[in-house]
Amino acid sequence: MMTCHECGQTMVRDARPVVLIYEGHFITVDLPGWYCACGESVHSSKEMTVSDRALDLLKARAGGLLDANPGQLTLLRDCRADCQQPG
Ligand SMILES: [Zn+2]
Repeated sequence: MMTCHECGQTMVRDARPVVLIYEGHFITVDLPGWYCACGESVHSSKEMTVSDRALDLLKARAGGLLDANPGQLTLLRDCRADCQQPG
C-alpha cells in the first residue's frame, strides 16, 4: 500500500505508458509503479530501469547506431519481463 505524498489518496499498482523524448526521437514504454488519481507516480530504482534502458535505446538511435535493428523490441520486452517479477 502506498499513499500519495501530494494529495494523501491511496495509490494503485499499475504499468502506464510513458513517452520518453531525446533529441527529437521518442519512444513509449509501459512504466510499472504506483500511480495516483491526481497524476503523481512513484517508481523504485528497479522500475526506473525500464525508462533507463529505453533512454539508452533512444541515445543509440539518435546516434544512428541501431536504426532498423530488430533487437530493439527484444530489449524492451526483456526489460518488462524483468520488472514484473515480484520484489
Ligand atoms: Zn495524489
